[in-house]
Amino acid sequence: MTEFSNLGLSQPIMQALALKEYGQPTPIQAQAIPILLQGRDLLGIAQTGTGKTAAFMLPSIDRLINSDKRPQPRTCRMLVLAPTRELASQIAENARAYSRFSPLSVTTVFGGTSVHKNKQELSRGVDVLVATPGRLIDLIEQGALMLRNVEILVLDEADQMMDLGFIHALKQIVKLLPAKRQSLFFSATMPKAIKELADKFLTDPTQVAVAPAASTAERVDQYVTFVTQTEKQALLTMMLRAGFSEKGNMDRVLIFTRTKHGADRVVKLLNGNGIAANAIHGNKSQPQRERALADFKSSRVKILIATDIAARGIDVSGVSHVINFELPNVPEQYVHRIGRTARAGAAGVAVAFCADDERAYLKGIEKLTKQRIEIAPLPENFVAEANRIKATRVAPAVQPQGQRSDGDREDRNRVRRPKSRRPNFGAAGAPKSNRARRRASGR
Ligand code: AMP
Repeated sequence: MTEFSNLGLSQPIMQALALKEYGQPTPIQAQAIPILLQGRDLLGIAQTGTGKTAAFMLPSIDRLINSDKRPQPRTCRMLVLAPTRELASQIAENARAYSRFSPLSVTTVFGGTSVHKNKQELSRGVDVLVATPGRLIDLIEQGALMLRNVEILVLDEADQMMDLGFIHALKQIVKLLPAKRQSLFFSATMPKAIKELADKFLTDPTQVAVAPAASTAERVDQYVTFVTQTEKQALLTMMLRAGFSEKGNMDRVLIFTRTKHGADRVVKLLNGNGIAANAIHGNKSQPQRERALADFKSSRVKILIATDIAARGIDVSGVSHVINFELPNVPEQYVHRIGRTARAGAAGVAVAFCADDERAYLKGIEKLTKQRIEIAPLPENFVAEANRIKATRVAPAVQPQGQRSDGDREDRNRVRRPKSRRPNFGAAGAPKSNRARRRASGR
């Protein structure tokens, strides 16, 4: 088994790592670190949760320390481009931790923060700059930053960059970089368009691939509950009440909606039912986003509702449950979502609420992950309870009670989990089958 001590990292980095108590390097770290220490370019196919940030940060910091240069005014020595503010903040947080025993400076620039402050921070030059592409270009155009001294370039989550329409900005940035540099390019997926983009950035790269997107799913206990759109809110409320009760097993819950408005609606209804929750999405101001994330990280508010973009890169350890309030229409997005739990080896639970109009999405997800997702029936007392829950309109009782699903043909191939790991609907009743619901939905 590879150890960090065998990878060739120097003393200040090893000291910083000791504080992290990581144990062994992850596969991408074991593969990428020796290559990057040699100064080679890298094409990494990996998603968040694989330890990729340390895989590129540790050797880069090592090289920056050892080359013993100083940043010149309005320049940076290492540039990391990330698609979202949250991911940029997180990468910078990691960079600061890993460079703790060195004199390197780390700065972030992204939209929603003060341009004036960005300019001030860049004026003397920085060693490591973590940026989102839009703000970076603004600062370059205003003469606050030049890229001619970049020694190391990292482009993180390239597929997400493309989805967010940053391609033009990236092409603009690449023209301003010096030809002699080390380049690292990471993406969770590698379709043709991303490969072409990578070719523009990299020279003779070594390719490292770990845990293709779909395989994260294997480490998460996954369930799907069939429910109508109008019943979802009641089901969520019941599930959270049970999960955070004395008998419950929820510590911190991340809930996904497809839209920003959907996220706000869920927060409003939960708050109306006496459940504290925050939302994080693109319509929130930067301070609101930071506060929501800080509340969640500190467990002050244990429920966070997020859209896919905002959640990208969120790294909070101890997310016990991911709830897909709405299924994503892109199957890979589901894998990203449930990857927020079960990070760095821990186990987690993911529950999907699937309405009739989302069945096709569920099929797509099961095809991608090559897994059947186990059905978690609605709680026995669902209809009565749901009617009691404030501000929720509940559809007529289509839910048959008291049938077991074990003999169902569709269920036979599903992995049965120990009962204790199944979603906890509380003491009010043992889960019963919703077979008729499944029949009605064609499963
Ligand atoms: P990343 O894929 O970079 O987002 O990292 C995911 C999480 O794994 C972060 O919380 C890291 O702190 C953590 N991590 C990174 N490397 C290791 C390691 N070798 N052992 C345990 N945890 C790690």
